[in-house]
Amino acid sequence: MSTRTLRVILTNPRGFCAGVERAIEIVERALQLYGPPVYVRHEIVHNRHVVDSLRAKGAVFVEELEEVPDGAVTVFSAHGVSEAVETEARQRALPVIDATCPLVSKVHKEGRNQSQRGREVILIGHAGHPEVEGTRGRIPRGVHIVSTREDVGALTIPVEAPVAYVTQTTLSVDDTRDIIKALKERFPHIAGPDVRDICYATQNRQQAVREVAARVDLLLVVGAKNSSNSNRLREIGVQMGIPSYLIDDASMIEPDWLEGIETIGITAGASAPERLVQDLIVALGAYGDVQVEELDGVIESMQFKLPRELDRAAVSAVRT
Ligand code: SF4
Repeated sequence: MSTRTLRVILTNPRGFCAGVERAIEIVERALQLYGPPVYVRHEIVHNRHVVDSLRAKGAVFVEELEEVPDGAVTVFSAHGVSEAVETEARQRALPVIDATCPLVSKVHKEGRNQSQRGREVILIGHAGHPEVEGTRGRIPRGVHIVSTREDVGALTIPVEAPVAYVTQTTLSVDDTRDIIKALKERFPHIAGPDVRDICYATQNRQQAVREVAARVDLLLVVGAKNSSNSNRLREIGVQMGIPSYLIDDASMIEPDWLEGIETIGITAGASAPERLVQDLIVALGAYGDVQVEELDGVIESMQFKLPRELDRAAVSAVRT
């Protein structure tokens, strides 16, 4: 009996970035050093599997600081927080460990600097996303948020006003370039970093998806619906004319998607564990004989230091 062959092409790089690895490690270390419960404001990274596994170890996820009891160890998520949240934590003397990705902190700093130089700051990003809310709340005089070329057209800032832009770290490189172009047309003297605020992990994963999408009939992106960088990966597949689906895990595969498909590209957003990709490959085995190929890609060597609190705590824990 002949079985159908399904070719699977895995992108590289895919899955966890250095900021996500660091954020997860921060919660795990905090749990080891201080013992549960450790309170985490917002999902530490946008992935239910990651959150569930940390919850099982004793992390408690909350949306607002008022849900954190006095004195409880509190972790800020990789997406960062506004100045107001930081101040509230300080006023309540909460022991805080900040898991904000250093690349997000860099954007906070840039935005603040531009504002302190007297420029109106335009933030290219998706309103309501926690990273955007955090960045917005770091810029003293407020920001103008744009996420499309049309939003640029609707800005009411006078053309001669000093202006600068910063961007969310997990946007589409192509769309952002387009928006920057529109901003430069409207404000020829605008200051900004081109697409350099889009983080290395986002750029690398998008480039890898472009390569794989040119070779496959179907694209599966492992990642959460509320993960910005995962959504952008699926969009690239769609823009390249490939049926593309964003799935939390293998349980979301629909058999219809695989009809007439010979080659499947698989990638994972920066907050999706590799284990979910491997589970997906196993699950595809129910539909045919799976042959896996892995594309070469950029080798990422980025690593971020842990916050000092954890190192200090580690030292005193060892001494006691
Ligand atoms: S996607 Fe980029 S900015 Fe976000 S946590 Fe990862 S490295 Fe940091």
